[in-house]
Amino acid sequence: MTISSDNQPVVEDTLAQYVRRIRIGLKLSQGDLAAKAGIHIQSLGKLELGKTNRLNAKTQTGLSRALGIPESYLEAVCRGVPITEVQGFKICPTCWMPGTPPEPIWLELRSKYCFICGTSLLTHCSGCNEPIMSLKFRFCPYCGQSYKNLKKSIN
Ligand SMILES: [Zn+2]
Ligand SMILES: [Zn+2]
Repeated sequence: MTISSDNQPVVEDTLAQYVRRIRIGLKLSQGDLAAKAGIHIQSLGKLELGKTNRLNAKTQTGLSRALGIPESYLEAVCRGVPITEVQGFKICPTCWMPGTPPEPIWLELRSKYCFICGTSLLTHCSGCNEPIMSLKFRFCPYCGQSYKNLKKSIN
């Protein structure tokens, strides 16, 4: 699935504005979207009026499928944080110390290389390509690959 950047929330977006914009972009009525997402039309109505700022897991999954956007985008607008923060982390595999927060400059969208050592920053596990979502662990929770000092393994 390709996600056009138009579907990304902007920082000022509220959940209501964001859902409404994508729904209209997809030319869906509230009824269409509610049916596709498997939620009640009244719940969607409330949501688009800005009366709901939290989504339960079922609604979040339903909406993300129906709108064709990652659940992390919905999570970001609910929390009012930029999507970079929920999309995953970017770390320097050489300088990052497990258990510490990443340098803010690594997280900048345009940063591709570490400002300290010049190593390519890592956003995805090199073992299984899952995004780095937590820095509590020094290993990828999906495949056990170490995030730090990764050597690209060529099988
Ligand atoms: Zn570095
Ligand atoms: Zn992995």
